[in-house]
Amino acid sequence: METSSSDLARLATLRQEIVRRAEDCGRDPATITLIAVSKTVPADRIWPLISHAQQTVFGENRVQEAKSKWEDLRTRAAVTLHLIGPLQTNKVRDAVELFDVIETVDRDNLAEALAQEKARRGHVPRLLVQVNTGAEPQKAGVLPQEADAFLQRCRDVYGLHIEGLMCIPPVGDLASPHFAWLWQFAARHGLKTLSMGMSGDWQQAVQLGATHIRIGSSIFGAR
Ligand SMILES: *Cc1c(COP(=O)(O)O)cnc(C)c1O
Repeated sequence: METSSSDLARLATLRQEIVRRAEDCGRDPATITLIAVSKTVPADRIWPLISHAQQTVFGENRVQEAKSKWEDLRTRAAVTLHLIGPLQTNKVRDAVELFDVIETVDRDNLAEALAQEKARRGHVPRLLVQVNTGAEPQKAGVLPQEADAFLQRCRDVYGLHIEGLMCIPPVGDLASPHFAWLWQFAARHGLKTLSMGMSGDWQQAVQLGATHIRIGSSIFGAR
C-alpha cells in the first residue's frame, strides 16, 4: 500500500536529483518544471503534495478522471494542470475549462475544435503540439515529416498560438535521439517549451533541453 508520506519522500529526493542534474548539465534548475503525473492517483493522495510540498504543477491523461479529481482540488489551491493524454474532440470543451496547458494537439479536427472554443470563450489553454517522433502507428502525435505543415496550419488556418512541443519516445528506443530531434525542431520554429522526459529518461531530457519533465512513478510509485 503506497502512502502519501512515501510520495512526499520520493518527491523530495526527485527534486534534489533534478537540481543536481540541471547543474551537471550547466542549466539553471529554475528553467525546468516538474510536472507531477497524478493519473490513477486519488485526490486524497494528491492533496498532501500540494499542501505539504507546494507542488503546484500536475499532469493528467484523461479528461473525465481529471475532472472528477481536480474540480474540487482546484478550489482549494492554485495549481497548473497539464493534459498529457490524447484529447477527443467531444471532450474539448471540458478540457478547455479544466486544463491550463494542453500538451497533445496533434490533428486538424482537434485544432479546429480548439479554435471554436477560442472564438466562444476568448481564450484557450496554453498549447503544445505532440510529435510522434518514433512514427509509431498506435501512438498519438503528429508525424515528424508532417509537423512543419501542421504547426503552420495551427497558426495560419486555426489562429492558435503554439507554445512548444511534447514527445514520448518509443519504449525500447534510446530516448536521447528523440529528445535531440524535438529540441532542434523547436529551435528551428522558435518554440520555447519542450515537454519531454518521464521517470525512466528525464536525465537525458534535462541534458537535451527539456523545460518540462513529466514524472509519475518516481513520485507515486509503480502504477
Ligand atoms: C504516465 C505518463 C507519464 C509519466 O510516466 P512515468 O514513467 O510514470 O513517470 C508521462 N507522460 C505521459 C504522456 C504519460 O502518459
